[in-house]
Parts: sequence; C-alpha cells; structure tokens
Amino acid sequence: MSEVSRRTHVGRRSFLKMAALGTTAGVIGIGANSLTRQADKSEIAKPYPGSKMVKSICSICSVGCGVIGEVVDGVWVRQEVAQDHPVSAGGHCCKGSDVIDMVRSHCRVKYPMVKQNGKWKRISYEEAFDQIATQLKKYRDKNPEQVMFLGSAKDSNEQSYYISKFAAMFGTNNLDHQARI
Ligand code: SF4
Repeated sequence: MSEVSRRTHVGRRSFLKMAALGTTAGVIGIGANSLTRQADKSEIAKPYPGSKMVKSICSICSVGCGVIGEVVDGVWVRQEVAQDHPVSAGGHCCKGSDVIDMVRSHCRVKYPMVKQNGKWKRISYEEAFDQIATQLKKYRDKNPEQVMFLGSAKDSNEQSYYISKFAAMFGTNNLDHQARI
C-alpha cells in the first residue's frame, strides 16, 4: 500500500466507528436544536422568577460576612453580597464569593469517607470517630509530639480555646493556625 493510500485508507472497523459517531452527533444536534432556545429579555433580567432573597452570613470563617441567597422552592440558586452588612459592607473574600458551592458543588463531601486500596468508601460517623480515636491514641502512646493540631479561621474564640486545651491534654505544643503553614 502506498504512503498516500495508507493515510487515506479507512478499514471496515474504523468506518463503522466513524459512522456510529456521526449518527450520535446528528441525534444530539437534532435534540439540542429542538430543546434549546435563546432567552428573552425578561428571562435575562430575572432568570429565576418568583425567587426569594434571603439574608444570611458566610460560614467559612468567623468574620461572618453578609450574603444574600437567592432561593427558589427551597433551593439556593444564586448569591450576592449584602451591601448593607455592618461588618463586610458589600465585600467578600475569594472563599466567600462562592460560598454557595458549599451547598451545590458536585464534589462536596457529604459524609465520612475513607480510602481503601486506592478507592474512596463511605463510612459511618461512628466508624470515622473510632478510626480517628484509634490513630490518635496510637500516636499519643508512642510520642505525642508526632501530632500537630491546627485551628482555622472558621473557629470561634471558644472553639480555639477548646482546641488549645485538647492539644495540652494530648501532650504537645504543636498547635498553630492553618493560615500560617
Ligand atoms: S470566608 Fe471570607 S467572605 Fe466568608 S466570612 Fe470569612 S472573610 Fe467573609
């Protein structure tokens, strides 16, 4: 077979694959054309008619910046900054500007997971607590300095106090804030 004919030659198997792909693309194209349309001006101005604006706060850190949640039938669909919030005064940091993803993100962790043989597996809270407690006890018995406790901006003063007390009880001075590492 010449170089040109080798490049242009399409085997029976390849031809069938391409034909199947073309048919699928055609079907998707027909479906999309009949199912989609351009939004009109009122839909662009108000994409969620009948929605409610609910005042709330960002829960990612203890600052508690103001968030306005747009809600449709109990589902949070969009967010805005709260211009009149006394602390944030219409501002957000990069975390808070997408706090809605704490609720709607497809990759949000909703329950305890453990990795076994390279695969994530769901476990109960009891199992998770047991595993954490077993590991912590193992390290504490051997050498508590192997463990470090990290607080975060999400913790309140009271929670930070508890964490520091727990670290002292555990037997280590390895205690810091997550933003410093
Ligand atoms: S994470 Fe950002 S937006 Fe949320 S409360 Fe803290 S500073 Fe405000």
